[in-house]
Amino acid sequence: MYKYLFGPVPSRRLGISLGIDLVPSKVCSMNCIYCEVGKTTRLTDQRLQYVPVDKVISELRDYLTPEPKLDYITFSGAGEPTLNSGIGDVIKFLKLEFPQYKLALLTNSTLLTILDIHQELLPLDVIIPSLDAVSENIFQKINRPVAGIKAQDIIEGLIKFNKQFTGELWLEIFIVPGINDADDEIRKFKHIITRIKPDKVQLNTLDRPGTEPWVNSVEDKDLLRIVKSFKPVFVEYTYKKKPRSLIDSFKQEISDTILEILKRRLCTDQDLSQILNLHINDVNKYLSELLSKDLTDSELKSRGRFFYIKK
Ligand code: SF4
Repeated sequence: MYKYLFGPVPSRRLGISLGIDLVPSKVCSMNCIYCEVGKTTRLTDQRLQYVPVDKVISELRDYLTPEPKLDYITFSGAGEPTLNSGIGDVIKFLKLEFPQYKLALLTNSTLLTILDIHQELLPLDVIIPSLDAVSENIFQKINRPVAGIKAQDIIEGLIKFNKQFTGELWLEIFIVPGINDADDEIRKFKHIITRIKPDKVQLNTLDRPGTEPWVNSVEDKDLLRIVKSFKPVFVEYTYKKKPRSLIDSFKQEISDTILEILKRRLCTDQDLSQILNLHINDVNKYLSELLSKDLTDSELKSRGRFFYIKK
């Protein structure tokens, strides 16, 4: 029914979260090795109206007029939302016409290097920017950004942004074992965190298979080591453990339907998205839950990652 809205998704961090997707899959300024929505097909830092903002606004007006119960409206999707040059207009619209809803943005932080964009994002309630490395070589290895994007510029952008931002900034660090989890890098992170001054740090790790099949999830003992090293910075990581099925917006019937489909044939997340007419991010949340319950598994083939029922 909606083209640019999805969910509400059962989000571990944001509860009942209505997603807004401002870029088609998959336009991004990075091509992260762990990306759970597949390879970036258009690697760019060019800001454009990748999807028409007037149509996004009209969908939002239609969806929000009956005042549904939501914890957040979140700019996320299968790419980098700030690449859409109209994001500021959507934020303005929501703050003006539906001020009762809290707005969140998940961003890879690359565009925070552009000071003009800060003004567009300042009305947000929560921003969850990623920073996966402080050292340039590690940053390039994990995030594989558009040429010219540097970790140091992103860090300076985050520091400047948070000096003016009155909402909450939750800094997300995706830990890739063997790449950015060494003590030396964690020490550098700690120093940088004291300069960015986030309200909290969220450690993230692989939830379902990433773009590169060799990327693994971090073990609990290493997460604990990192959390200890970051002290006294407040680090959240246990949210990963909360089963999505306990979140209000989790729909058991969708999970059951996915299992039924997978019983008949192997499918990629894109296949399931088309069959169920569900946004790819929605599909992936349910696939994560099924993987964590050990009900499904996946295999990388030439057309992408296929999910199947575990015997
Ligand atoms: S993880 Fe985010 S920033 Fe990285 S490639 Fe995927 S969508 Fe882009």
